[in-house]
Amino acid sequence: MTHKLKTLISSDELKCPKCGHPHIWKKYETINALEKMDMKKKLLKNEIFQFTCEKCAFKAPLTYNSLYTDPKKNLMIYMAPVMETEVDEKLNELNSLQKGGTKRLVDNINDLKEKIMIADNHLDDRVIELLKIAYIGRIKKEMEDDNMQDILFDYNGGQLWFLLFFEKKGIGRMPLDLEHYRQIERQYRMGILDQSRDDFMKVDLEWAGKVMFRR
Ligand SMILES: [Zn+2]
Repeated sequence: MTHKLKTLISSDELKCPKCGHPHIWKKYETINALEKMDMKKKLLKNEIFQFTCEKCAFKAPLTYNSLYTDPKKNLMIYMAPVMETEVDEKLNELNSLQKGGTKRLVDNINDLKEKIMIADNHLDDRVIELLKIAYIGRIKKEMEDDNMQDILFDYNGGQLWFLLFFEKKGIGRMPLDLEHYRQIERQYRMGILDQSRDDFMKVDLEWAGKVMFRR
């Protein structure tokens, strides 16, 4: 049973970090995707959690504590740029509101968007992170003279892929093989269960490493 957490938006003042121009900051404290489909679309298009100065045109991601919930998918994702006591308390509160379901913790907007897109494709982000490790192993040669800064799931229609962000070479794309996904899912089933709990979990490459290289 999913608790009905309603969309909540508050206002605050925010000065442009570049020119100091004052702004009204619309803070999306809770986004309920089922209730506000348009808000979800805006989030995925980078129209939310983005600061744009009307005076000097300065743009920057605006990351702050925010809950994304999709009751239909039994999904809650909490974005907290910094782990602090306040966040712990909030997560405890949400935990007691809802037992079960998928609960995730992220610290930036790209990861939040990625989790939403993975869920939209009915995939398991835990398997996706494991698959990333397998795919990174394939591109060892490319990494010899470059640094990979990020790897993110992305899709368009039925086409799934990983976006690879290299320091020098820029953005690359690797098609995601669903057969490989299923194989990873089977192979690490026990390890995945072992590293999962009914709480807000940070599921990233570090988490996947614990599953893949556990003794
Ligand atoms: Zn400005």
